[in-house]
Amino acid sequence: MTTVAFIGLGNMGAPMAANLLKNGFGVRVFDLVPATVSTLAAQGAEPCSSAIVAAQDAAIVISMLPEGRHAKALYLGDEKGAGLITQIHRDSLLIDCSTIDADSARAIAAAADARGMAFVDAPVSGGTAGAIAATLTFICGGSESAVARAKPVLQAMGRNIFHAGPAGSGQIAKICNNMLLGVLMAGTCEALSLGIDNGLDPAVLSDIIKASSGGNWTLEKYNPCPGVMAGVPASNDYKGGFMVDLMVKDLGLATQAALSTRSAMPMGALARNLFVHHAKQGHGHEDFSSLFCQYRPKSN
Ligand code: NAD
Repeated sequence: MTTVAFIGLGNMGAPMAANLLKNGFGVRVFDLVPATVSTLAAQGAEPCSSAIVAAQDAAIVISMLPEGRHAKALYLGDEKGAGLITQIHRDSLLIDCSTIDADSARAIAAAADARGMAFVDAPVSGGTAGAIAATLTFICGGSESAVARAKPVLQAMGRNIFHAGPAGSGQIAKICNNMLLGVLMAGTCEALSLGIDNGLDPAVLSDIIKASSGGNWTLEKYNPCPGVMAGVPASNDYKGGFMVDLMVKDLGLATQAALSTRSAMPMGALARNLFVHHAKQGHGHEDFSSLFCQYRPKSN
C-alpha cells in the first residue's frame, strides 16, 4: 500500500485526503487545526503531531495550504524549524496542490532538485464539489518524470491531469484561470442583478443565458443568486466553497505575474478591486459568489 502524507485539511484538503483513503492509499494527516485531523482519523487516516512526523517514511507528500508562505515554510523551513526537504527521505515525491505564486513554487522545486527530490506544483480547479466528487482538474508544473510519478495518486482525486510545463507552470496556468473566473463571477452577478431590477426571475434568466452566448461556468455550476441552484454556497448563506479572501489572493497573484511581465490586465484589476472592497466589508470568509451581495444586499 502506498503511503501518502497529507498536510492541510481545510475545505479542499479534507475531501481530497478522504478520496485517497477510499482508493486504498494509506494516509497520514496533519493540520494546525486538531479537529480536522480527528475528522480524517475517524475515516481511517493516521493522525500525526506534525508535518514532519506525517511525511517521515511516506512515499508521497501532498500539501493543500492557503498561501506561498505556508508552502515555503513547510518545504523550506522558517524560524520555527527546518523544512521537509532536508528532513525526509529523498525518494519521497513532493506534490503541492495549493494555489501559490510561481516564484515560491520554483524556489521549492529548486531546493528539492538540489537534494535529488522530485517536486510537482499541482494546483487544482473544480472547487469543493470537485474535491468531494474526485473530479478535480490538476494543473501540473515540473519535469516529465515527476509528473508521470504523480499521476496515479492525482487520478484518485481528480479526472483531468494537465502538464502545463516546467516548475511553476501549473501555478501560472491556475492563476490565469482564476483571474478569468473572478471576472466571470463579477459579470454574472451584475447581469443577474440587472435582470432582477428589470423584473426578470433570476432562475429563468439563468436558464436563458446558459443556453445563449453569455453562458459560463459560474451559471452552469455555481449560480451566485440565492435560491436559483441547489447545493451551491449561494443557497447556503455563502458558507463553504471558495473564500473571498482566497479569490483576493489569486487576483493578487495574477496582478504580480502581470507586473513582472508588463502584461495588460484591466479586467483582472477591476475584478480584484471589487473582491478587495467586498472583503473589506466583512465578507472575506464567505464564498466568492457572495460578491452578488454588492449588487443586491442580503436584506433586499
Ligand atoms: P482552507 O483555508 O479551508 O484550508 C487550509 C488548511 O491549511 C486549513 O485547515 C489550515 O489550518 C491548514 N494550514 C495552514 N497552515 C498550515 C501548516 N503550516 N501546517 C498544516 N496545516 C496548515 O483553504 P482551502 O479552501 O482548502 O484552499 C487551500 C488551497 O487550495 C488554497 O491555496 C486555495 O487557493 C486553493 N483552492 C481552493 C479552492 C476552493 O474552492 N476552496 C479551489 C481551488 C483551489
